[in-house]
Amino acid sequence: MGNLEALGDAITGGLVARAVEPAAGEAGDREHTHERNCLNCGTPLKGPFCSECGQKAHVHRSVRGFMQDFLAGMLNFEGKFWRTLPMLAWRPGEITRRYIAGERARFISPVALYLFTVFAMFAALNFTGTLSSGQNKVNFQSQLKTDIADSQAAIAKLQAQRAAAVAAGQDVAPIDRKIARQQEDITTSQNVLNGRAFASAKGADEAPRWIRPFIKRAQDDPQLASARVQDAASKYSWLLIPLSVPFMWLLFPFRRRYNTYDHMVFVTYSLSFMMMLVVLGSLLIEVGASSLASLLFFVPPFHMYRQLRGAYELGKWSAIFRTMALVTFAFVAAGLFMAAAAAIGTS
Ligand SMILES: [Zn+2]
Repeated sequence: MGNLEALGDAITGGLVARAVEPAAGEAGDREHTHERNCLNCGTPLKGPFCSECGQKAHVHRSVRGFMQDFLAGMLNFEGKFWRTLPMLAWRPGEITRRYIAGERARFISPVALYLFTVFAMFAALNFTGTLSSGQNKVNFQSQLKTDIADSQAAIAKLQAQRAAAVAAGQDVAPIDRKIARQQEDITTSQNVLNGRAFASAKGADEAPRWIRPFIKRAQDDPQLASARVQDAASKYSWLLIPLSVPFMWLLFPFRRRYNTYDHMVFVTYSLSFMMMLVVLGSLLIEVGASSLASLLFFVPPFHMYRQLRGAYELGKWSAIFRTMALVTFAFVAAGLFMAAAAAIGTS
């Protein structure tokens, strides 16, 4: 991508749009200092940028200038993107440590990356149909029908066994229990097929009282409920960051040289990477490489270990113990978050 950046610089004559992200070590534009005072805040100008607010001394007011800013901003972002992404994947500890230590302009900030990946994740999930309930519903129904047929076949087989057992004078109670279980499965599947979801042998009223209105709304319009749950999940996704920080405090109770800011950078980069895995997984499933996608389940603990070890400069065992705690916490947090999104989305 270095070529693209050089191309962009050539086209824009070295102008870099500071509006998108501050550029890494750019010399700036020395040709345009017509203004004596900053056009933004009025501070007397020395050099190509305002020493008070950072705005460029010379601003464009032409379509050409607009296009230059647009292109430069895009290529600047792209350059950073390809510098950030491989490092986040292979050396997450290093990028976290360097960002905390102050190399900010070089990489995409954790927050910008997080917002980008939330968007990318929901786009990918919708595009690949993982979240489109219409298609899922059809698949789900045919699955239920297969289940019922399987159970019926199993019952036929069990009844033959039972007849043989009776003829041999054996105890048929275990076989009867198996038959009863299969029949229960059929009843459940048929209830769901007939739109009486969750109306299992026990009945819908057995569900905890607080959950019943959500079930009711999800049954009335599954498509709308799914869209609203997604909406809630993306709208409140930032909550995962503050929720994770207290846990990071617990992981490092005696390490005073790491503060809350450091933990927030760690968590935000980590969550961004995990969402990229979801994007990758859904794309792999889409092209039929499901077994490859299932291998991705083993990546998070490994990545967490590498990031913990590198970012906090931990020993091997110290990092392993903290990884186990972090994986456990991540499961609980993800579960709670999904439950909250479902509750908000269907209320
Ligand atoms: Zn200024």
